[in-house]
Amino acid sequence: MMVLLGFLLVVFIKPYYRNDRINTIDSISSTMESLLLKDNVSKADVESASRTIIGNNVCALILNEAGNSVYSPPDSLGQLCLLDKQISIGDMVFTIKDDPEYLIDSIKKENPYSITLDSPYAGVEMLIYGKQIKSTLSNYYLIMNTPLEPIESYIDFILNQYLYVAVIVVMISLVIAFILARNISAPIVQMKNEANKLAQGNYDARFEIDSFSEINDLATTLDDATSKLSKVNELRKDLVANVSHDIKTPLTMIKAYAEMIKDISGDDPIKRNEHLDVIIQETEYLDKLVSDMSELSKLQSGVIEVKRENFDLKECVERVALLLDKAINEKNIDLKLDLDECVVYADEIKISQVIYNFLSNSLKYSDNDTSITVTLRSDEDKVRLEVKDEGSGISEEALPYIWDRYYKVDKNFNRSVNSTGLGLAIAKAILEAHKARYGVESSLKEGSTFWFELSRDYEEEEEN
Ligand code: ADP
Repeated sequence: MMVLLGFLLVVFIKPYYRNDRINTIDSISSTMESLLLKDNVSKADVESASRTIIGNNVCALILNEAGNSVYSPPDSLGQLCLLDKQISIGDMVFTIKDDPEYLIDSIKKENPYSITLDSPYAGVEMLIYGKQIKSTLSNYYLIMNTPLEPIESYIDFILNQYLYVAVIVVMISLVIAFILARNISAPIVQMKNEANKLAQGNYDARFEIDSFSEINDLATTLDDATSKLSKVNELRKDLVANVSHDIKTPLTMIKAYAEMIKDISGDDPIKRNEHLDVIIQETEYLDKLVSDMSELSKLQSGVIEVKRENFDLKECVERVALLLDKAINEKNIDLKLDLDECVVYADEIKISQVIYNFLSNSLKYSDNDTSITVTLRSDEDKVRLEVKDEGSGISEEALPYIWDRYYKVDKNFNRSVNSTGLGLAIAKAILEAHKARYGVESSLKEGSTFWFELSRDYEEEEEN
């Protein structure tokens, strides 16, 4: 910017000021012209013309057609005035005041006429200007002379000022650049390095918070991304480990039992049926695992939307209970349903799935001859459903993790109960999609109570 400004100053200021001076001379000449063309010139007119000439650092001369001086206003140039000095224009050497023919000829050819000379007297560049003024009676020649020197000195002054300003500006910008480099560039470079680490799969990358709020935001976002990426990475490792374990075990079983049938029990219908039952059970487990996995991944990726409609939640609970009737009877569980009449506005299929998962878990983890109570309470702003069992309960350490996918409290739990570790993760995804509150209270060996609450806000929204 400073270089550009300096360049503009040097290149354009000279022609600009020269032009300005010529314009001044032009305007003086018009004033003098109107004065000469006046019928009766007052003393005040003459004084005002003289003032203009003095004020503008000009010396002037008015000649008549014959070349004689008719008026020579006082001037402020004094010794510098070229009009009464010997000058040379081209090969001609003459004094304008005594010998004005050359100038008058030039003015006749080019009106107004102007020429610049290097004055040998003042050592500066001077402007000589001439103009013909035609009045009714005769022609006059107005000749003026002004130095261009003030312009040069003005340029020097400006350039000097410019140099001072340039030095100050450069110093200030160095300071600003230093501060910016420290506060903006350095953290960005640091972030870039951390991001590189991230790109290489190092999830320890940390983005430091800085004083600039935009960089702050960026750091927080990147940190967030890092922790999410690292979670995804863990999840992926988990997933591979769990899936390979969960799939490998039933496959091994299926293979082993199939071989047993082939080699041993093929001819013994009772044994063979037992072995075939194991194979069928394992296949069912695999089937459930795969459908749970796809259900959960669909839910979590947001592919499935919540289709809300009004439905009777009481009926829904009763239907789910009926589905589990066989298992309930097998375990001789006393299922108590304490249900308020209520209609809710939610996705019926998905909410049924949640109730099914809660209830089937309670069944799975309850001993024979215990009881399970399902309570449904409806009030003005919400509907609350609880599934309470007298089963194994969940330890305090395990409680925060049971909603995670693939989490099983007892990793070696009898696999015939169809435990995939995905049931609660699916319930969580559904309830969160409904913006429902949910939770569990449980203590080891005493039983658990799983619950969720559906807000009635959505019903109001619908009515509106
Ligand atoms: P799973 O298919 O193993 O039941 P879930 O996601 O449904 O998977 O549950 C996760 C874990 O939470 C279970 O493995 C179990 O240990 C524990 N759990 C869930 N419900 C109950 C319950 N009603 N009583 C005791 N433990 C439970």
